[in-house]
Amino acid sequence: MKIIIDAGHGGTETGAVAFGMKEKDLNLIFADLLAKKLQGLGIEVDRSLINDNQYDSTRLTDIIKKSGAALCISCHNNSFNGSARGFEVIHSIHSNGNLARYIADEVKKTGFPVRRTFSRRSTNPQTPDSDYYFIIRLTYPQVETIIVEFGFLDNSEDFKILTNPTWRDRLTNAVALGVKKYIPSDKKPKTPIMGNSILKPNQLKAALKDINPKANTSIVDLYYDIARDYGVKADIAFFQAMHETNWLKFTGVVKPEQNNFAGLGATGGTNSGESFPSVEVGVEAHIQHLYAYASTSPLPQGTVLYDTRFNLVQRGSARNWEDLNGKWAVPGVGYGESIVALQEMVSGKYPDTGEPPVHWAKACNDELLNSGFLNSDHTDTLDDYATEGMVICMINKLRKELMKDG
Ligand SMILES: [Zn+2]
Repeated sequence: MKIIIDAGHGGTETGAVAFGMKEKDLNLIFADLLAKKLQGLGIEVDRSLINDNQYDSTRLTDIIKKSGAALCISCHNNSFNGSARGFEVIHSIHSNGNLARYIADEVKKTGFPVRRTFSRRSTNPQTPDSDYYFIIRLTYPQVETIIVEFGFLDNSEDFKILTNPTWRDRLTNAVALGVKKYIPSDKKPKTPIMGNSILKPNQLKAALKDINPKANTSIVDLYYDIARDYGVKADIAFFQAMHETNWLKFTGVVKPEQNNFAGLGATGGTNSGESFPSVEVGVEAHIQHLYAYASTSPLPQGTVLYDTRFNLVQRGSARNWEDLNGKWAVPGVGYGESIVALQEMVSGKYPDTGEPPVHWAKACNDELLNSGFLNSDHTDTLDDYATEGMVICMINKLRKELMKDG
């Protein structure tokens, strides 16, 4: 996990100027100190933008995107009317704002006033659904970029603090601590994608039924049946699907009729990605895509390749769920961790009740479904009451079938 630090402005472009101080000089000092604090916390830092050079927006954001960093922190100082003061963080409209909040919380502890954390949407009709500030807009989604405005250099109180070495130390230290809190710890062991499930299907079904009562829980059995053939952990694969589809509520760009449970090919913006002809095929394509990342073995014998993006994956390049960060999801900070965390959540909240016995009418349901007498699967509603109308229609259907044979 690498972070690139940018010292805002440079060269002839000085940024704000007040009390004889150029913003670019102050930014450079803060950027350098922040890099040292982050390194002190064991975080890898790219220093290639900590200098007094001037770049145009394309060049600057290209350097950030090509750095391989997951986060970029652009260091600035504000100016307004001389009376505004305090610390600000600007984050992407696509971000949940956690990084900005963690940083602001740490800065508050120093006693320095925090003005706000915020995001700002582009007002240009050519770039709707994007950020106002170019450094955030042009680095999305490869890098999660924030702009840190340490203080207002045209405010006399802030100016005193911003030019005081002890305070600079405190402020950069606070920012580094907030960043540290946000990024996943490398010390925690990673969770392999291949292997056996820890949880039982009934636990996953209980969670799904509770969180989305409208969902058909038979998808859980599909995950277990199909993932077993590939040696992929069914429970966590299912949680990835729940993470991607918001527990089958499909609140994102992917729609339920696509049978795309893991955002395959949905690379951002309004691109809704792949579609599959059935739930079964959609689940199998998902498992195959995981298998492409986590294994270098050929597909199991007798399987059909449904994942159209299988060959785009560098085989074996992500053995663990946490390794999918920045690969399956960009920028993807904490993506794998949040999926694995669902396993812990469900394990605690929905204990194993043992597999429910198969319903006495389940075999009849399946036979009628296969023979076309039933139009839809009633496995989940076998104990529901049927109306007289339903019974009459069924008897009539039966009568017609019998007449045909006679
Ligand atoms: Zn600036």
